[in-house]
Amino acid sequence: MQGLLFDESRQQPTAAGGDKPLYSDLQELYEGSKTCTKCRLAATRNNFVFGEGNPKARLVVIGEAPGADEDAQGRPFVGRSGQLLDKILLAVGFRREDVFICNIIKCRPPQNRNPQQDEIASCLPWLQNQLELIDPGMLLLLGRVAANTLLDNNLSMGAMRGKIIGWKKFDCVVTYHPAALLRNPNWKRGCWEDVQLMRRHYDTLQGKKSDSQP
Ligand code: URA
Repeated sequence: MQGLLFDESRQQPTAAGGDKPLYSDLQELYEGSKTCTKCRLAATRNNFVFGEGNPKARLVVIGEAPGADEDAQGRPFVGRSGQLLDKILLAVGFRREDVFICNIIKCRPPQNRNPQQDEIASCLPWLQNQLELIDPGMLLLLGRVAANTLLDNNLSMGAMRGKIIGWKKFDCVVTYHPAALLRNPNWKRGCWEDVQLMRRHYDTLQGKKSDSQP
């Protein structure tokens, strides 16, 4: 198909051309990535968790990695963290299907350990390709692992929250991961402030009044 770049020796799409999309269509990207064996997590996963939502979303929400529920269902944020994420999004007027939800890496690390650097490096081109194709104005980055990885820094949550951070052509807001909020309910107020900031900026980008919905 036109637009696909293949390194035939590996039978895998390659990032020839740097940030150039590997695939030019989200469904093709899904079909081409779902059997990925680029890292060790392929051996232990039950499902590749591509992400889901509106392929034309103006907001992409990015978590860290699938957990047990997500690995079992092949869908992002469907466990307890996901239920809280749904509520957080709804509180600022987004239904799950309005946005696109995915993770830094697509396969569950065993025992939910942190993703390793080589796993992230193998997986990031899939996310970068998704972002190129969806082309949202904004990213909501959930937790320090997602934010540090994508923004390529080592900053604390305190240093990243409460502001719009430009990364490539996207305006990013960083907030707590829902799993962290389940452990530390005191952080919910801060998260509420972050997502309100995100909603205001989203509306500004859409040229809408801030009380209107997606
Ligand atoms: N935590 C994440 O970071 N992502 C999911 O999809 C679920 C839980």
